[in-house]
Amino acid sequence: TAPRVVVVGAGFGGATAARYLARGGAAVSLVEASPTYVACPFSNEVVAGLRGIEAQTFGYDGLGRAGLTLLPATASAVDPDARRVSLADGASLPYDRLILSPGIDLRFDAVPGYDAQAVTAMPHAWKAGAQTVLLARQLAALPEGGTVVLSAPANPYRCPPGPYERASLIAHFLKTRKPRAKLILLDAKDTFSKQKLFEEAWATLYPDVLEHVPLSSGGQVTAVDPAAMVVRTDFAEYKADVACIIPPQRAGRIAVLAGCADRSGWCPIDPVTFESQRVAGIHVIGDAAVAGAMPKSAFSANAQGKVCAQAVLDLLAGRAPQTPKLINTCYSLVAPGYGISIAGVFHPANGLLADVPGAGGTSPLGAPAAQRAQEAAQGEDWYRTITRDAFG
Ligand code: FAD
Repeated sequence: TAPRVVVVGAGFGGATAARYLARGGAAVSLVEASPTYVACPFSNEVVAGLRGIEAQTFGYDGLGRAGLTLLPATASAVDPDARRVSLADGASLPYDRLILSPGIDLRFDAVPGYDAQAVTAMPHAWKAGAQTVLLARQLAALPEGGTVVLSAPANPYRCPPGPYERASLIAHFLKTRKPRAKLILLDAKDTFSKQKLFEEAWATLYPDVLEHVPLSSGGQVTAVDPAAMVVRTDFAEYKADVACIIPPQRAGRIAVLAGCADRSGWCPIDPVTFESQRVAGIHVIGDAAVAGAMPKSAFSANAQGKVCAQAVLDLLAGRAPQTPKLINTCYSLVAPGYGISIAGVFHPANGLLADVPGAGGTSPLGAPAAQRAQEAAQGEDWYRTITRDAFG
């Protein structure tokens, strides 16, 4: 019989890996808990009222047609010795190789006051779906002259430029729809992705709307009080009309249950095959993995899905996997028609995925409007291409 591969999670990483494995002739079962996928890239536009959530929502019919078995179920446990995955409905799936791409869990133990109940008053909107729509509604209902507080976590976390894109698009919303309102961005770090490009745009577009408080100026959120709508730092207390708290994160729970996560909460992997450094026979891709210099992005998860699928096909056939090169590009929108990007190339070096020196870079500072518009359009094209590649 054909070797069996089980993939858990049909997001950007898992759906891609499963499709490429099926194409390579493996018998693939893809386990996904949610009936549809709601994509995070471009969800900041939904937050800012520039796009509907339908544009973020993908069915799984395309995966069913890809020659794999889609199992609508939650994976609840993994037995790495017996090589079996248990599902919440009681079923048990044997595997020769298991790929986990469960994305992230939010850490509700990291910011005092920010627990699982707090998300209704203070949405994170860091998993797209109901939370995204809730934050968009809260912003739409913001009183005149109101205050929005947005918090960004320390590294590592899902989508390094994401909080800054969100800040930009909320600032755009306030500038155009709520002229006297303010946005305070509380940041648990001093440096961040595409910083110079964001700061250049903010100085031009949002000087009176957006206040960025970095770590060294007291930007780290130390506690929240959702009932009082108060966000605290060591330096100050902010009363918010709308508060979006993006808390620290860890690998999705099933990766932790499988024993793949270390004390950091993330999963160290072999950079050639993405096999867990802790549990043989299990590969971890996407946000859940420690991928060295590669950021936690949909682009990365998709690239890792392909590399991991090929490595698993090679291992199952008794061939040595090839040393990969992987690419990532992250587009951010700072206003409609104003896009910026960062790109990188990565390869295995010293047991990690490292930057290929001299490859990649960011959009130039001081670029003309036409170039920013072109990058905004390229971002849209990228979204169409990658969602097609992952979900069919
Ligand atoms: P996910 O896409 O989260 O998929 C995980 C899947 O696993 C989910 O469908 C989940 O339901 C399922 N699952 C989890 N546990 C189980 C279980 N036990 N059983 C069954 N199913 C399970 N990236 C970019 O490249 N470009 C961008 O412009 C961009 N913008 C972003 C903007 C925002 C606001 C945010 C929050 C993120 C953004 N990202 C962007 C990052 C991107 O969304 C993630 O990096 C990407 O989704 C990671 O893919 P993944 O496969 O690791 O996880």
